[in-house]
Amino acid sequence: ASGYNLLRDPHHNKGLAFTEKERDAHYLRGLLPPTVIPQDLQVKKLLNNLRQYQVPLQKYMAMMDLQESNEKLFYKLLIEHVEELLPVVYTPTVGEACQKYGSIVKRPQGLYISLKEKGKILEVLRNWPERNIQVIVVTDGERILGLGDLGCQGMGIPVGKLSLYTALGGVCPSACLPVTIDVGTNNERMLNDEFYIGLRQKRATGQEYTELVHEFMVAVKQNYGEKILIQFEDFANHNAFDLLEKYSNTHLVFNDDIQGTASVVLAGVVAALKLVGGTLADHTFLFLGAGEAGTGIAELIALEISKKTSTALEDARKKIWLVDSKGLIVSSRKESLQHFKKPWAHEHEPIKDLIDAVKDIKPTVLIGTSGVGRTFTKDVVEAMAAINEKPIILALSNPTSQSECTAEEAYTWTEGRAIFASGSPFDPVEYEGNVFVPGQANNAYIFPGFGLGLIMSGTIRVRDDMLLAASEALAAQVTQENFDKGLIYPPFTNIRKISANIAAKVAAKAYELGLATRLPQPEDLVNHAESCMYNPSYQNYR
Ligand code: NAP
Ligand code: MN
Repeated sequence: ASGYNLLRDPHHNKGLAFTEKERDAHYLRGLLPPTVIPQDLQVKKLLNNLRQYQVPLQKYMAMMDLQESNEKLFYKLLIEHVEELLPVVYTPTVGEACQKYGSIVKRPQGLYISLKEKGKILEVLRNWPERNIQVIVVTDGERILGLGDLGCQGMGIPVGKLSLYTALGGVCPSACLPVTIDVGTNNERMLNDEFYIGLRQKRATGQEYTELVHEFMVAVKQNYGEKILIQFEDFANHNAFDLLEKYSNTHLVFNDDIQGTASVVLAGVVAALKLVGGTLADHTFLFLGAGEAGTGIAELIALEISKKTSTALEDARKKIWLVDSKGLIVSSRKESLQHFKKPWAHEHEPIKDLIDAVKDIKPTVLIGTSGVGRTFTKDVVEAMAAINEKPIILALSNPTSQSECTAEEAYTWTEGRAIFASGSPFDPVEYEGNVFVPGQANNAYIFPGFGLGLIMSGTIRVRDDMLLAASEALAAQVTQENFDKGLIYPPFTNIRKISANIAAKVAAKAYELGLATRLPQPEDLVNHAESCMYNPSYQNYR
């Protein structure tokens, strides 16, 4: 019952907001200056402080300090200024933070499971102070954002993603567990960095890798039960697809890079149909990049087409084409293709360059998921504009420098006719007197609400139908006013409302499929979702 400890407990600390009564009751007299201020004023003060920093990484560090000293204030600030602070606690700043993680982080923030913990993972989980965990975000650090292998320092990603689970989806912070699995790194810079915090060895692969991950998966289910949500994050594609498939029938698993991306992009395309007309099945899709994002999106679009038109999935796939680093994926390459590309190897002569693929395939929708910037050249975009009245162009590669084209290029090269969205944010563009606001296909639209829907319904497996439900729910949140500006995503300011709607649709699907265990099913799921959400306002201590 010491006031001193209360001030050092991030879950309960209120700083100067402790009232006179609380200061008396909890031995806080003298430990704080005499002023009592409300939480709103604390938010205002912190925002002022943050805005003084010129360097994004300093803002990030200030936010992490706040999270570690006063959790409610951290979340109130983040929720109320989500558009401004999302790029601080998540991409792009979190990427830089991961690169320097060993030097900047003061507290562990999450659970580290390395090869040294092999055989003891269950004990490791029990060392975590919180018991009631509902969602784990786990990475092995091999493909952090577009930055590649950052090994153990990838921890910034699960930490950041989970703070969005709370801020945007309302999942309780104490129910969130960030995990980094450390099997080594192939990043020479990390291995030679004296401040590197991970195992100093090359990545374990094959059986050694598989066994460690498996021990983790089994221990998690044993310790937390069937309803624990495990989100795989930033695994390299040579493991990501296999892990997702392997555990999708035994665990509640979700891969945001594959499935979350697919759901958010499908939502954008469905919304764009309101602007360009036609149904999904009327369109032809061409992707640049056939990895986790590209094939994940392609597969979900095909699934939606096949459901909506009652055609076979194989037929629905025929209107979707992908280009990888070797050119158009065609059947003559089938033998040498990675398994996740095989469904897309259609009958066609080989084409090497994107521009020739555009001219030949004549797509109505062009999607960039290659990670390589400047690949939607003037030729490519002009070809799209020549084929289509309103070409849909999605330049999804991150960070901004890797975007396939800029918003300005998309609008100017199509004479203002493009429906454009990107992975990284771009400012509005003025073209011949009109202002175009580019949308951002940010995964943060989907995963927090998606996760909340699973958690609040006690769902035990993820199914593709739930991803489709999430896409439809998000697309339905785009208003006429948004469309009038050319937007195919709603603004982030209402994200909690959007998340509640997504959660409700996902939960409804889970109940329909018999995978929800929290019974009976609440009558009003949107209401229920909102009532489940974490509230960052201070409570009164008596
Ligand atoms: P990935 O699994 O590594 O896939 C990259 C794909 O791009 C591979 O198929 C690769 O070809 C292909 N590629 C690489 N260089 C190319 C080139 N010069 N020309 C044509 N294709 C090329 O990566 P990922 O996870 O899919 O992520 C890709 C990008 O999407 C990243 O920049 C990421 O930030 C972005 N992304 C955006 C969102 C979003 O906006 N919400 C979500 C997820 C990802 P090979 O297979 O031949 O090597
Ligand atoms: Mn990711």
